[in-house]
Amino acid sequence: MKRENNDIEIKDNRFPPSLFGIYLGVLLLMSGIHTGLIVFMNEKEWPELLQIIIPMLYWSMVAIGLTVFTRSRIKHTYEEPLHKFADATKRVAEGDFSVYVPVFHTEDKLDYLDVMILNFNKMVEELGSIETLKTDFISNVSHEMKTPVSIIKNYAELVKKPQITEKEKLEYAKSIDEAATRLSNLISNILKLNKLENQTMAAQTEKYNLCVQLEECMLQFEDMWEKKEIEIEVAMEDWVMIEADKGLMELVWNNLLSNAMKYTGVGGKVSVCQEREGNQIKISIKDTGCGISKECMTHIFDKFYQGDTSHSGEGNGLGLALAARIVDIMNGDIQVESEVGKGSIFTVTIPGFIASATEGEE
Ligand code: ADP
Repeated sequence: MKRENNDIEIKDNRFPPSLFGIYLGVLLLMSGIHTGLIVFMNEKEWPELLQIIIPMLYWSMVAIGLTVFTRSRIKHTYEEPLHKFADATKRVAEGDFSVYVPVFHTEDKLDYLDVMILNFNKMVEELGSIETLKTDFISNVSHEMKTPVSIIKNYAELVKKPQITEKEKLEYAKSIDEAATRLSNLISNILKLNKLENQTMAAQTEKYNLCVQLEECMLQFEDMWEKKEIEIEVAMEDWVMIEADKGLMELVWNNLLSNAMKYTGVGGKVSVCQEREGNQIKISIKDTGCGISKECMTHIFDKFYQGDTSHSGEGNGLGLALAARIVDIMNGDIQVESEVGKGSIFTVTIPGFIASATEGEE
């Protein structure tokens, strides 16, 4: 019997039909030899007792031969593969996720045991990647937490010293405050990402003016752009009504703007540009900062990835992972173009346009 599985026919049993032919052939040959033996013993007038014992011995030998043959076929067909499979499951149970069991037949001749092995290999691979993600996540979180915690601990020790001046005390308190903020940002980012990844945080859409939101987000970085003398360029309409999750979108703009300010040097330029294509709103945040190398580009949306270590203390590598996840939930898209030494452009496209100053209600 054969079953269809993803267009491949799967053999439903492993019993070799050729076995019947082999048994029939062997039994016909053996009974031929038996008849010949009887005739030979009669002709030679062998004693009667021998004529009884010899055929009995002969058939016992035939039975032993057939048993050994059947045993080796069962061993080859069922026991060997199942023992290999049992060894593999034992290794997985002991935590070895590098296990791979090869299938016994080529893809066009798969049977149910091959399918079971293929599914097992897939399951182990999945388990392995979950395990890697889990261990990576734990080591990343621990690593990120260690620095601010040790800063807090060291400065708290210093504050306790009686001989320190008021100015030093304030300086140490400021460092403790910064490290505590970093720690709290890290924890809230991890919690947000966790909620978003588990989809427990559903998008709560509302109608709002995107331009006001972008302006408010930008104003939060005023101190930073003034300090770094960054030129700000804005190209957007007076108002653009969209329907999206305001709270989540604010996180996206804040993360992108904070990166643009962070990675742009003194005297650089950050531009925010808004465009519309059908019901899609396109926001580009462009900077003249350090840019991102091709190698970094493939990882920037990964959790905890920090390509530019010179700014590692100012972030935790979760900003872009969060932004990408939110844009994904909003059914939007995030793209990046960058050139090392020249700058980067992050472009977010989201649906949900309602009306704008230039287009009017749609
Ligand atoms: P971080 O907290 O390190 O900023 P992100 O997830 O926001 O974490 O960004 C990941 C990495 O992407 C950064 O460490 C940096 O190397 C790179 N990156 C992000 N935005 C920019 C940018 N505007 N210019 C240059 N590099 C950037």
